Amino acid sequence: MDNFRKYFHSKEKRRQTFTSWVFKDDVRCNADALAEAGFVYAGNENEPDCAQCFVCKKSLDGWEPDDDPWGEHLKHQKDCPFAATQKSQLKWTVEQYIKVEKDCLTRIINSLREQELKRNNDEFKKRIQG
Ligand SMILES: [Zn+2]
Repeated sequence: MDNFRKYFHSKEKRRQTFTSWVFKDDVRCNADALAEAGFVYAGNENEPDCAQCFVCKKSLDGWEPDDDPWGEHLKHQKDCPFAATQKSQLKWTVEQYIKVEKDCLTRIINSLREQELKRNNDEFKKRIQG
């Protein structure tokens, strides 16, 4: 299963990934705000300011201190149901929660289906060539 998505459902778990964020806590685009908006730290030496959404998996970098993580998330990934809520998970309605869950599961199923199709295709190619 997709442990990445399951594990990072918790804002605290997402927050803990930002051990070395490029901005301090007193700016709008701080680690806590990014975690709240669905992001997990995904940076490295070359891209120290990269963050990735745990639902839609969109990666964003080039953040500015004044950026609004919720706004940037929705701007760059209009079909992300997490970004569409534009508010803390703690304030979601049951409908919003179900919509995000449904989308996560659909993305997991589609990914498994693609892997299975690719595996079958590879096997088929081997058989007709061999
Ligand atoms: Zn997203």
